[in-house]
Amino acid sequence: MNIGRGHFLLQNVMPYLIGHLLFYDFVFIFTIMRWFKFSHVPLTGLFVACFFSASVAWAGPAVAAKLDSPSSSKSYKMEKIVFSDKLIRSAAPDGISKIRSSNDAEVYSAGERYFPVMLVETADFKALDSAFIARMFNEEGFKENGVYGSIRDYFIESSGGKFKPTFDIYPIKLPKNFSEYNSDSKFILPSIDIMVERSDFKARASKYEKVIPFVILHPTSKEQASKFNSNFFNHMFNLKNSAGKVYSKNGYSFNNYAFVSQKAENKPNATSTKDVAMLGAFIHEFSHVIGLSDLYSADANGYATIGPLPYDVMALGLRNGNGGYPPTFSAFEREAMGWLKPTEIANNDSVYELKNLSKMQAYAVSNPNNRNEYFIIEYRPAVGFDSKIGSSSYSGKQGKNGVLIWYIDYDARAFASNDPNRNQSHQRVEVRTVLTKNQESFTDFEFVNNVDKSSINGIFNLVFDGNDRVCFTVNRSKTLDKCPENEAESSSSAVEPHSSSSFAQSSATVSSSSVEFPKSSSSSSGSQLLVQNVAPKVQMRLSHGTLEVHVPVAGQKTLRFYDVLGNVIRAVSFEKQFVSIDISGQNRSAFVMLDVSGKRLLAKQVKFR
Ligand SMILES: [Zn+2]
Repeated sequence: MNIGRGHFLLQNVMPYLIGHLLFYDFVFIFTIMRWFKFSHVPLTGLFVACFFSASVAWAGPAVAAKLDSPSSSKSYKMEKIVFSDKLIRSAAPDGISKIRSSNDAEVYSAGERYFPVMLVETADFKALDSAFIARMFNEEGFKENGVYGSIRDYFIESSGGKFKPTFDIYPIKLPKNFSEYNSDSKFILPSIDIMVERSDFKARASKYEKVIPFVILHPTSKEQASKFNSNFFNHMFNLKNSAGKVYSKNGYSFNNYAFVSQKAENKPNATSTKDVAMLGAFIHEFSHVIGLSDLYSADANGYATIGPLPYDVMALGLRNGNGGYPPTFSAFEREAMGWLKPTEIANNDSVYELKNLSKMQAYAVSNPNNRNEYFIIEYRPAVGFDSKIGSSSYSGKQGKNGVLIWYIDYDARAFASNDPNRNQSHQRVEVRTVLTKNQESFTDFEFVNNVDKSSINGIFNLVFDGNDRVCFTVNRSKTLDKCPENEAESSSSAVEPHSSSSFAQSSATVSSSSVEFPKSSSSSSGSQLLVQNVAPKVQMRLSHGTLEVHVPVAGQKTLRFYDVLGNVIRAVSFEKQFVSIDISGQNRSAFVMLDVSGKRLLAKQVKFR
C-alpha cells in the first residue's frame, strides 16, 4: 500500500523516496476536505480516495544532508527529557507549509491499519508477557497499571475515529545476549528474520503496508539498553538509514520503526507487567512513525523547560498521570494528520461555539499575509486522556485544562529537523495561554515571525457550558451570558459562522455538479470518514511529467482535474483500462476525480510540484 510514499508529514523524508515512486494502490479512502464532496456511489466497495503528494521535492538541503549521514546519531529522534544539546538558532522559514496548504496525511494514519510489534527477548533479558502487551496496545478501555486506555484507544480518540490502528504482537527470541545486538540493524534485522518465518505473521501480512512500518520493543529499560549503544534510548528511525536500505525478507519490506523499551526506568530486569514502560512512551514514538515531530526542547543546562510541556504527547505530556494519560493530539497535530480542519474565525458579531476537541472542532486565526503563522483555539476539558493535564507540572509550569490558545509558526525545515521549538525566544508550537474561567479574554493575536496583526481583536465573553462546549465572541463590546441553546445535537454549525476560508467558499463551486457526501456506511458518528475496502485497484503513477492511470474495470472513464478553488481545469475521457496523461505543464497541485460510467470512483489530491 505504501511503497514509495513513506514521507512524514512533518519530518519529511521524501527526498529519499522520490527515486522509486511505484504504483500506488488505493485501498482506503479518507477525506476531511470540506469543499471536496463526493457523489454517492452505488458501487459499494469501489469508492476510493486518497491524498498523496507524489513529487514533493521541497525538503531543504539541510534535511537531505542530515539524512544522508546514516551513522549520525543526530538523525535519531531521541527522548530529550533531559539532554545536553546546545541551543542554536532555528532555520529561517521557507514559507512552505504542508499542514496549511494540504491535507496529504501519511497514508497509514487513516482508516483501519495494522502494524506488527516485535516483542523481543534476548538470552539475558526476558520479554514481558505478550498477552498483556497485546491488551495494552489494543484492548478497548484497557485500564491496568493506572492508564486511561489502550494505545489503540488513544489514536482513535485523537483522530475522532478516523485512524484505527491494530497492533499485532509477535514474540521474538534472539539467542544471544543483548550486548551482541548493539546497533539498530544488529538488533532489528535478525528480529525481522524470525518474525517473517512465523505462520501467524504470514497469515496477517496482507493487512500490512507494502513497506511495513513497525514497532520493536527491546527487553529491558532504556537506560540499560543505552549501555549497549548510546543510541538505544527510545527513538524513531528508518532502516534506510540505520541499516543502509529498506530491508526486504521473504518478500516483505520494512523501513520506518519505533524503537522502545519494554520496561520502566530503573527496572531493567523486570518480569512483572507492573513494570512495563509508560504508555506515553509507546504512543510518543509511534506518533513519530505516523509523522509528528518532537515539540520539547531544553534550556542551556539541558533541562526541558519549553515547548507545550504538559499539553502535548510530543512534549512532556507523555508523562502525564505517570505516563498513563498522555494528552490527545492537539488540533494542530490533528490538522497535520489530515483529521481536522480548523475553522478560520471571521471578524464579525457572531457568537462562536467551540466544542470539546474530541468532537474534532477548533478555530484558527491566521496571519492574513502568511497562512503558516497562526493561532489555534481548542477546548480541552479534563476528560479522558486529557484529564491529568491539570495535575501535571514540568519545570515549574503547571498544566491547566480549559480553552488552549496555541501559537503556531510552521516551517518545513524546522519540523524536518525535529526540533521546531529549539529557539527559546521563538517557539514555533506553544500554548500561549489557557482560559479557564467565564469572561476571561485573550487579545494578543500578534504574529511574531512575520510582523502583522490579526484582524481579530481577541477572544471575549468566554462562557463555559459544561465539558461539551464553550462560547465566545470576538467583539469586546458584545455581551454574552450563556451559550445559545443547542439546536440539533449533531449539527456542527448551529452558531458556527461559515467562515470565509477558501475551503468553505469553494464548496459552492464544486457542488454545482452532483457531488454530495455519501451517507457514511462505515461510521456511526456521522463523521466524514469514509473507509471501505476496494475491490478493483485503481493505480496511479506520476513520473517525468506523466500521470499514468490504471483502472481495471470496464466502462467510460473520465478524469477531471480541479484547481484549489474547485474549478475544472482539465477533463480527460477514455474507454480503455489504462491512460497516460501529459501533465508537464501543470505546476500546482490539483484535485483529481475519476468517474466510471458516471459514477465517482476516485478523488485524490495530486501535487505536481
Ligand atoms: Zn520524540
